[in-house]
Amino acid sequence: MELKYKRILLKFSGEVLMGNAGFGWDMSVLTQVAEQVKSIRALGVEVAIVVGGGNVFRGAQVQSDMIQRSTADQMGMMATIMNAIALRDVFESHQLVSRVMSAQAVPSVSEGFSANLAQKSLALGEVVIFAGGTGNPFFTTDTAAALRGIEVKADVVLKATKVDGIYNADPFKDPTATRYSRLSYTQVIQQNLQVMDLAAFALCRDHAMPIRVFDMLKQGAIERILQGEDEGTLVTIGEE
Ligand code: UDP
Repeated sequence: MELKYKRILLKFSGEVLMGNAGFGWDMSVLTQVAEQVKSIRALGVEVAIVVGGGNVFRGAQVQSDMIQRSTADQMGMMATIMNAIALRDVFESHQLVSRVMSAQAVPSVSEGFSANLAQKSLALGEVVIFAGGTGNPFFTTDTAAALRGIEVKADVVLKATKVDGIYNADPFKDPTATRYSRLSYTQVIQQNLQVMDLAAFALCRDHAMPIRVFDMLKQGAIERILQGEDEGTLVTIGEE
């Protein structure tokens, strides 16, 4: 089978892992994610992952002056580490060799990030989960996804959302909303479409890193993307 991408950077939020639970982890979703990743690996595609932390904590949730925003963001980054080590164990229980690399130093929990080691692991077929976001407050895991995707030379950033792509209106509110199949970075900016936060988007644009927005829990979606079919929305410089 002809594959469109050899190495992907998959980004999903912590909320995905929460399912309908309201907080924390839904084991059936973790299992679903592991099965998805296993099926991608079975195709021979190398998988790097950035996971968010919103199912546990987001920095913006702290409303008190007594806790500084940068501290709150560190708490949020720690939430992403919790997700990453949970995912690693679930993946390993599905016979997927996995490692976590954290941008925040927590030596007894995770090794630190190394772009060089990550690329070597990916080439060996290991699933590499990047934790701790960018390691800096005031950023998001979207930016971490853009950054890590560029650093490990992924072919695409696959951003999983609840909606199966970018629409011209909110598909939950407007039944006539239609999905864009492809967009250029310029169109996204001109039409003020929400793809990723601006820092993340600017990084992808400046490094010509394609972004594909899709619904990870939609049956067969990733496989269709890997086979080059029309699934989700692809954002590129516009010539691909
Ligand atoms: N965060 C941060 N720097 C980063 C990435 C994340 O400070 O580079 C913090 C921030 O507080 C954020 C939280 O970690 O709210 C969880 O990340 P995010 O909100 O991106 O998670 P998601 O919404 O994707 O689950």
